[in-house]
Amino acid sequence: MNTTEEDMQKWFGNFSAKTFADDICLIIGAWANIGVIKTEEGLVVFDLSNRVYHRRIFNQIRKFSDKQIKYVIYSHGHFDHCFGYASIIKEVNVKGWSMPQIIAHENILNRFEKYRKLDRYHAWINKQQFSSLSNLPKEGVYAHETLDPTIIIHGNNNYEFKLGNFSFELYHDKGETDDSLWMYFPEKEVLFPGELVSNPTFPNVGNPFKVQRYPKQWAIAIEKMLEKDAEYLVPGHGPLIEGKKNVKEALLIRAEVLNFIYDEVVKRLNEGKWFEQIYHEMLEIYPEKFKNHKFLTPSYGCYRFAIHAVYRLFHGWYTTGNPTDLFPAKSNEIAKEYLEINNEEQYLNHAKTLYKEGKSQLALHILDIVIKGSFSGKKTTLLEAYSLKSKILTQKVAEEPSFIAKNILRNGIFELESKMEELQRK
Ligand SMILES: [Zn+2]
Repeated sequence: MNTTEEDMQKWFGNFSAKTFADDICLIIGAWANIGVIKTEEGLVVFDLSNRVYHRRIFNQIRKFSDKQIKYVIYSHGHFDHCFGYASIIKEVNVKGWSMPQIIAHENILNRFEKYRKLDRYHAWINKQQFSSLSNLPKEGVYAHETLDPTIIIHGNNNYEFKLGNFSFELYHDKGETDDSLWMYFPEKEVLFPGELVSNPTFPNVGNPFKVQRYPKQWAIAIEKMLEKDAEYLVPGHGPLIEGKKNVKEALLIRAEVLNFIYDEVVKRLNEGKWFEQIYHEMLEIYPEKFKNHKFLTPSYGCYRFAIHAVYRLFHGWYTTGNPTDLFPAKSNEIAKEYLEINNEEQYLNHAKTLYKEGKSQLALHILDIVIKGSFSGKKTTLLEAYSLKSKILTQKVAEEPSFIAKNILRNGIFELESKMEELQRK
């Protein structure tokens, strides 16, 4: 297993549940993480993962303690953080207990509403982003069945509550989403950042499929967390981070990289540069200290995606500065015109040469002319173009550290495979 795969195994919660902080706290990995705190008067549960894990979560909680769950906090409304409640609710009904208080930020209500409206769309999108998984919930978010909040935190307000002898502090900040809550448990110095920190992956900022994230506010949230000087950090995904030094390092490097990307992209926007130039300059200046930092591995989100996140904050969809791109023709019609100049064999041969020279990205661009332009062209040439593109994408999958990017490349391979089968049947 390579590093990316190991990181992603942990990201998906494939590690043993663990007690810590004098056995007062428990971390359960179940795709996203669940944090549990035991008090004299009952349990506080931070996040509930996705629907398919409800039994695993429940069983682990009950192994840890038989006390009633009094509070559930949602770090944000993503499908992998607040839907694994079925077994917990069943127990409440069987035992005749009162329902736990569910605490969330007010923006989660808009999110749930959006999911109800776009549930099938999100299922389609997630099928692509997580295409390599066999355990992806088929029904999408299934947002018509939500366990809605009973305590709603408005605006930028903080919220504190007490249970047993312990107190809990909740803060709202934007980061991956606009509905984030993070929690601090001062008695045992434990931070629960939700998705604002995943271990060890680079922040999921600039995800190619998803809506705008908040890179600057994300850095500010991390800086606020640093002030707590915590001993433990229960990340949104991945294993527990223990020890003040490690917690500080994991937080500091995140704040630094987010601020770096924000400042450098903003600087280039002010210099009147278009996206292509900004992107390639940013790749060149990426500091060594961030590359594969142990708390910043590019195995889910990555630096290349993050550049888009900052650019999109301030700029619309006309990103090239070339008026040709304002109202472009269809790409297959453009490709056909290229094939009027030189036939598909010549393009294919040129792509092969580029590939041999190690310029595989350029080879992909040239292959697309053959693929898009020659639907009715020679079967053997087209098959060869499909096959070379598939070979290049396969190599890219092997070299690519990001799970999301890997899946996008893999989806392309599957599409090419089915096109090849179809063509061979003709
Ligand atoms: Zn998550």
